[in-house]
Amino acid sequence: MVVIRQDLATRDWTIFSTERSKRPKDFRHEEGKLGSKGKCKDEYVESCPFCKGNEHMTPRELFSIREDGEWLVRVVLNKYPALEIKNFCGPVTRHIKGPYLSMDGIGSHEVIIESPRHNDDLATMDRRNLENVLLTYWHRSVDLSKNEDYQLIIIFRNHGIEAGTSLEHPHSQLIATPFVPGYVRNKLYESQRYFDNFGRCPYCDMIDYELKDRERLVYEDEKYVAFTPYASVVPYNILVLPKKHQANFVEASEEEIRDLASVFKVVLAKLYYLLDNPDYNYVIDSSPTDKSGERHYHWHIEILPRLTTRAGFEIGSGVTINFIFPEDCARHLREVKV
Ligand SMILES: [Zn+2]
Ligand SMILES: [Zn+2]
Repeated sequence: MVVIRQDLATRDWTIFSTERSKRPKDFRHEEGKLGSKGKCKDEYVESCPFCKGNEHMTPRELFSIREDGEWLVRVVLNKYPALEIKNFCGPVTRHIKGPYLSMDGIGSHEVIIESPRHNDDLATMDRRNLENVLLTYWHRSVDLSKNEDYQLIIIFRNHGIEAGTSLEHPHSQLIATPFVPGYVRNKLYESQRYFDNFGRCPYCDMIDYELKDRERLVYEDEKYVAFTPYASVVPYNILVLPKKHQANFVEASEEEIRDLASVFKVVLAKLYYLLDNPDYNYVIDSSPTDKSGERHYHWHIEILPRLTTRAGFEIGSGVTINFIFPEDCARHLREVKV
């Protein structure tokens, strides 16, 4: 059973999904099968539900990209979902008990299996594979955006144990939620306030400045730019943005998504070689589904390497302490030839 409860004082939502505690962990491998970073170097692992040949081990397939009958990227429902697909008609139900508000834990929690091969890595796979992964994100976003139950679609990747992944096979995830979290609302509110003050999208202004200044620039091409943000929250924090203003990821055309693969590949490879395949999270940060076309928000991919741990001060204040300036991170990243 999944339920979403709201804190009375902060209005923050918490999802309670008890099934998830049964999730398997597959990081314990037999000796002799590990690569240099303690990861499995085999292309096929018998017990892995995401490996080619083990398709029967996953829940229902929702989408795939295929070539000559073989799948290259597959999307399946998460076996241990944080939110569940609705099995009734009508809107998502809200409940009030005493002073407290909760709602049904409705949503879509999907796994994007990025390769049929267990030992593939997003940072080193060829450009076409990466293009297919990004196209899959886009196709699923376009599809889910049409569902009125969902307000926000979050696509994310947890790479490595420090980043919270439970299965080693290369995969990312998507969760569509029936509400917009306060954290996201606050970002939208602040960017709208910036728009009120200056009549411009804050992300477009950042892009203009970073392209002129170039101190924090990591990489750019005709359509996309990657830089380390001025107030980076962690070392090697990177944003990848379209140069053209687009509030929601689904506003990008199929061709623009294909082009995103070039910049994204360079950025991931630079991180991989500079920091020796670091653990990281990335998130596609996009406007809520009904805010597509807004002039003050601008979708982007945020990459957060896991080189530090959030401690008491960060949790208590929401303020992070960073130990390296983004200008230095950008310079180191620019120096890595990929
Ligand atoms: Zn596998
Ligand atoms: Zn913009």
